[in-house]
Amino acid sequence: MQTDCPICGEKFEDPKKLNKHIQTKHKDKIKLIKLEHPQRDKR
Ligand SMILES: [Zn+2]
Repeated sequence: MQTDCPICGEKFEDPKKLNKHIQTKHKDKIKLIKLEHPQRDKR
């Protein structure tokens, strides 16, 4: 299975590598990614 980066579209064989890629290359956009998987805030 391949996973592709939701930000730049780069493909990774291992989701763990994708996570690492995002954390290193898209550090600033991690928050944006979380917006794509919204969870209901309990405030
Ligand atoms: Zn990327």
